[in-house]
Amino acid sequence: MRNWSLAKPALALGFLLAVACFAPNFYVLFADETYDVAILNGRVMDPESGLDALRNIGIRGGKIAVISESPLSAKSTIDAKALVVSPGFIDLHEHGQEERNYEFQARDGVTTSLELEAGTDDVDRWYALREGKSLINFGVSIGHIPVRMKVMGDPQGGMLPTGDAAHRAASQEEFEKITTAMDKGFRRGALAEGMGVNYTPGATHWEIVEMFRIAAKYGASVHVHLRYGGLKEPNTGLAAIEEVLAAAAATGAPLHVVHITSMGLKYTPQLIAMVKGAQQHGLDVTTECYPYTAGSTALQSAIFDPGWQENMGITYKDIQWTATGERLTAETFDKYRKQGGVVVIHSIPEEAARTAVADPIVMIASDGMPITGAKVHPRGQATFSRVLGHYVREEKALDLMTALRKMTLMPAQRLEKRAPMFKEKGRIRVGADADITVFDPSRVIDKATFDEPLQYSEGIPFVLVNGIVVVKDSQLVSGVHPGRAARAPLAN
Ligand SMILES: [Zn+2]
Repeated sequence: MRNWSLAKPALALGFLLAVACFAPNFYVLFADETYDVAILNGRVMDPESGLDALRNIGIRGGKIAVISESPLSAKSTIDAKALVVSPGFIDLHEHGQEERNYEFQARDGVTTSLELEAGTDDVDRWYALREGKSLINFGVSIGHIPVRMKVMGDPQGGMLPTGDAAHRAASQEEFEKITTAMDKGFRRGALAEGMGVNYTPGATHWEIVEMFRIAAKYGASVHVHLRYGGLKEPNTGLAAIEEVLAAAAATGAPLHVVHITSMGLKYTPQLIAMVKGAQQHGLDVTTECYPYTAGSTALQSAIFDPGWQENMGITYKDIQWTATGERLTAETFDKYRKQGGVVVIHSIPEEAARTAVADPIVMIASDGMPITGAKVHPRGQATFSRVLGHYVREEKALDLMTALRKMTLMPAQRLEKRAPMFKEKGRIRVGADADITVFDPSRVIDKATFDEPLQYSEGIPFVLVNGIVVVKDSQLVSGVHPGRAARAPLAN
C-alpha cells in the first residue's frame, strides 16, 4: 500500500508521456524549450580538447549547453554543413575600438576585441563608453603611454606622445603619479598593462622595471612594444627584448611581446628564439604577430626621430601616407610629420611574417588601427581570414587546428590568470561562453588590401557573441549589441 502513493503519480506521468509521444509536434515542442540556438552538422574544432568531428551544438542563455552527435532542434538553427565551427577569435591587440571597427572584426570572425598595447588612462570611462552598445566583447589595459602623457602634460588627443612624455625622464613627483595611476587602473579591472617603450624613449630603464613590478602585483601580463625595432647595433630588437625579459625575470610579471615581426624585422626568428628559450627556462613570456609585411603608426611619433632609416633599413618611399595612399619623399615626410597623421610602413620581410604566422608559439593579433584615413592598414579588418585563407589554405604554412589555437585558446590562456572569465572563452566546451565563429575553410579569405582596405572578409557566414547571432548568412545583423566587458575583478 505504501508503494501505491508513489506509483500513482508515476503512472499518471507515464500516461501523459505516452499521449505526448503520439502528438506529432512532441519532439519539436520539447526541444524548443531546451535550446535558444542550435548549430547543426558542423565540423567542430576545439583546440583545447583536440575535438575535430561533426557535431551539433545547442546554446542556451549565452552559453554552450550541449555538444552532441544526436539531432537537436531549437528556436533557431544554423546549418553548418561543410563549415568549421570554431571558438570565436580573440584579438589581443586592436586600437580601433569603435562600432565600425567591431563590424569589420565581426565579419573577420572576431568575437572579443582588446586594446592591450596602448590601453587607456581611465579604465572606468573606457568601459562605460562601450557597455551595452557593442557588437562584440571588448576590453582594455591600463596604459603606460596614455598615463605618462597625462601626468607629463603631453598634448592630448592623439594616441601617441610627441612632447615630454616621449622624450624626457620623469621627475620623482611625476614618477609617483604615474605609479599611482597605473595601480588604480589595475584596481579598476584593467585586463593587462600596456607599454610602448619605443614611443616613450625618455622613460628610464628603471621606470620600465617599476612598471613591471606593478603588473606583477596584480598577476597581469605586460603587453609591450619594445624599446627598439631596429637592425643596427646596439639598438636592435634583440637588445630591446633583453630589456623586457630581464624586467619580467626580476619582477615576476608575465610578459607579452606585441607584433614581434615589426620589432624583429629580418631578425624575427632570433626574437622568437628568445621567447621560446625564456619559456623553456620557466618565464611566463608570450608573443603575437599580424600576417602582413607592413606596420603602421603615427608619423609624428618618436619612432621617426632621426636615425629611423638606418634603424629600420627603409627610406621615404617605403612609407605610405594613409590619408591619400601616396608614398613619401623627403619633402612630404617633413610636411606630414609636422601636420601629424598615420602612415603604413613597408618594412617587414615576407619571410619574417610567414615564420611568425607559422610558429605554434606566436599568437595572431591584428594591431588594427582606428579608421581615420582612406588607406588605413588592412590588418584590423582582415588579419584572421588572411591567416586562415592565405597562410593555412593557400600557402600551407601551418595546419588549421594550430592556426585556430593561436587565435582562440592561446589568447584566452594569456589573460585567464588575471581575468578568470577568460577560462570560459576560446573553447568549444559545455559551459563556455557561446562566442562562436562558423567559416568555410575552402573559401575564407581576406579582401581588405593596402589599396582597398575597407573590405569585409569573405567565407565567414555566421558569428555568435554570447549566443546572439551578429553575422548571419555573411551579413551583419543590425540592432544587436551582445558584446560584454572583458574585465578583471575589481579590487580595493
Ligand atoms: Zn605597437
